[in-house]
Amino acid sequence: MQVALDDYVESAGIATELVNTAAEVWHGDDHLPDLPALVAFADLHGTGGLGDLARRARQADLRAVHALRGTVRDLIDHPERDRLVTGATALTSPAGGVTLDDRARWVIPLRSGATVSDALSVLCGVGVLGVVHALGEGRFRACGAPTCGGAFIDTTRPGRRRYCMPGLCGNRTNVANHRARQAAAREAAG
Ligand SMILES: [Zn+2]
Repeated sequence: MQVALDDYVESAGIATELVNTAAEVWHGDDHLPDLPALVAFADLHGTGGLGDLARRARQADLRAVHALRGTVRDLIDHPERDRLVTGATALTSPAGGVTLDDRARWVIPLRSGATVSDALSVLCGVGVLGVVHALGEGRFRACGAPTCGGAFIDTTRPGRRRYCMPGLCGNRTNVANHRARQAAAREAAG
């Protein structure tokens, strides 16, 4: 498996999705609790290579993915440029150097024997480095929904993303605001 360097938007998206499987984001329910969940995550968010690595994963690999998730979250939570670059560069260490593929894209192949956690680590590292370089460190943010503990990397062009899971946290916030307005209106009429 290899990671294309110009796919940093996709890689940053996977980093965001990984971070937001954590129990703290779901009020105690880990969304990556076991190996089948890891395979499902890899099939959903990664290329074929990632799914194959996930199917070969053992319990220790799952623990490594959980540790990686914590490391990436810590980077998003403390987005100072030097810290992001140093931390993300460390995440790319399971890669075996940079090369050109047959479509003339810059890619980093994983070294042989790499695990699913190694692959995810390189993806997250490339995602963070790409965003820091192309968009800046202001793109690493906590979710704007008051009741959500999630975080995200904003790769949108205008850079105004507010929620870790826009469909979920954005809707929840809209519903809460709507109810608050209704209550205020009732009180005013009351
Ligand atoms: Zn959220």
